[in-house]
Amino acid sequence: MLLRLRPRLPAEQRDAVLALAKSLGYSATFLDEATQLLRLDGPGRPDHRSQFEDLCGVQAVLDGGDAHELHERNGRADTIVRAGDACFGGGLLSLIAGPCAVEEYPRLLEIAREVQSRGALLLRGGAWKPRTSPYSFQGLGDEGLEMLARVKGETGIGIVTEVLDPRDVEKVGEVADMFQIGARSMTNAPLLQEVGRMRKPVLLKRGFQATVREFLLAAEYVLAQGNEQVVLCERGIRSFDPTTRNVLDVGAVAHLKSATHLPVIVDPSHAAGRSDLVRPLARAGIAAGADGLMVEVHPDPSEVHSDGSQAVLPSTFGQIVEDTIAIAALDNRRLVLKRPLRAAL
Ligand code: PEP
Ligand code: MN
Repeated sequence: MLLRLRPRLPAEQRDAVLALAKSLGYSATFLDEATQLLRLDGPGRPDHRSQFEDLCGVQAVLDGGDAHELHERNGRADTIVRAGDACFGGGLLSLIAGPCAVEEYPRLLEIAREVQSRGALLLRGGAWKPRTSPYSFQGLGDEGLEMLARVKGETGIGIVTEVLDPRDVEKVGEVADMFQIGARSMTNAPLLQEVGRMRKPVLLKRGFQATVREFLLAAEYVLAQGNEQVVLCERGIRSFDPTTRNVLDVGAVAHLKSATHLPVIVDPSHAAGRSDLVRPLARAGIAAGADGLMVEVHPDPSEVHSDGSQAVLPSTFGQIVEDTIAIAALDNRRLVLKRPLRAAL
């Protein structure tokens, strides 16, 4: 590990750094006369890195050495995350589609059949909705979760649904094949730790104000609990420009594919906020290297209580499936499909 200490450090702060190094089993060597660059030789663990970062005498950890964080690519092959019939990573792409929120059972069943027949392997839909206003529709809660369970029983499609409260993790886990952690919950450490303790895939959405580093450290909370099945989801970040709801950060998608071994998918719906832009953003996401998409789909967007303006029709979702197959093939990647569809497309 290589540390840069603050210039003209008081002796007691320098001693604190050296004492910590010794207690963690490192031997320390100053590399410069000003005693600012400190090389540490020793075990190297991610939590050690943070302990040094937390000391007021340390300006920066310039090189983490062997103290790799769990999300880091560090020469590792892609982690492949499987949820229901879906596979994300390792050149395999999968699609998640469905309404923003679970509202009515017949509609939910209809949407599940529509997206499943076109190539989605997982159905999305929030039973609990993290709305910006406390007066907006908050989701049907337990009733919505029951509807998701019924649709799964009826169609066999896997379920991705958001869990908002650490106390709900167990019951949501009884229905969901994959926990969704929403953008607003990305920094909720107790929730991340709770899903980390479960042995079930987690779809972690990037907070709309989060840096890539903060996003990766949120994933690290889950990984540090022993759950390696994390899929990152880029869903757009906030900008000064209201033309689109958010700005899809395709640069971050491409960066993440090399920075981490975890799969990365794109949610073009919340990035665009407009149904007419969902398909082009979906294409851009796959071209940037995404391992899949999550798309909001509804046959009659005028009837929904949340995000109707960004929902695409099932037929548009069908076009997105075809785009995904074609773009993924450009770099020898493949969309995972159920057998009859694979033959048809
Ligand atoms: C969602 O996908 O249901 C959602 C609420 O999106 P986000 O958390 O990205 O805002
Ligand atoms: Mn939504």
